[in-house]
Amino acid sequence: MPGTLYIVATPIGNLEDITYRAIRILREADLIAAEDTRHSRKLLAHYGISRPLTSYFDHNKTLKGDYILDRLREGLSVALISDAGTPCISDPGYQLVRDAVEAQIPVVPVPGACAAIAALSAAGLPTDAFVFEGFLPNRRSRRREKLAAVAGERRVLIFYESPNRLADTLLDLFELYGDRQAVVARELTKIHEEFARGTISTLRERFQKGTVRGEVVLLVMPAEEAAPAEGPAVADLLLRYIETEGLSVKDAVRRVALETGSPRSEVYDEALRMKQER
Ligand code: SAM
Repeated sequence: MPGTLYIVATPIGNLEDITYRAIRILREADLIAAEDTRHSRKLLAHYGISRPLTSYFDHNKTLKGDYILDRLREGLSVALISDAGTPCISDPGYQLVRDAVEAQIPVVPVPGACAAIAALSAAGLPTDAFVFEGFLPNRRSRRREKLAAVAGERRVLIFYESPNRLADTLLDLFELYGDRQAVVARELTKIHEEFARGTISTLRERFQKGTVRGEVVLLVMPAEEAAPAEGPAVADLLLRYIETEGLSVKDAVRRVALETGSPRSEVYDEALRMKQER
């Protein structure tokens, strides 16, 4: 009989945010696979748990995955944990779970903290349907493409964001989406927990580049229920690409259409209108 692979959620800040069951499973596991063993040792020590520990992270997951699957096949039970929150959610684990399922090894979730769900639960935005996008790409052009692709989404958008990039992402959002309502959920469950609610432009003012600390979840109202944009995003972008960046009207129209998801003919009409006005 193979052992069981447990996917165990751990706290995202406040150490009390772990279930009795998670602690029991960790205490009973033959092996604990952790994203960062040094980080998790402190956590396990806090709960008085001392079990064999091995690492499982993005860069060793192929090799380590095989090792863990072999232990499971031998009948050992393995608990997978990540640095914080629920493994596999913007954290390593998916490949291991998929391989275990394929190998007919039982996989059991031990649910608990997840930053996206904690943020959504107290944000005050609609909770009936939402889209979790995880982290946006690092490169600005790819990030904007990604944001443009979900601009028309009718459900609340949830992103994980790094504090260093928050200001840039809020600027991208403002340019692509207009001034929708949004929430920045920062340092959840920790001493400096903060829910900053408002329009994207007010959040941009609040979270200036270089001043943001801690961990961040960003939630954005869906297109349908969004507050009307304060400035026409298409016109602003056209102006920027033509006037500031010196693109030809044709190139600017192509780029703005791609980034905003607006039909190229409409963007072209807007460019003509702007030209006539001047
Ligand atoms: N697996 C985790 C979960 O279940 O939420 C997410 C891990 S992901 C590598 C880390 C990101 O989650 C952070 O960059 C941040 O966007 C978000 N996050 C984690 N803990 C947080 C917290 N206490 N407050 C706000 N955001 C948090």
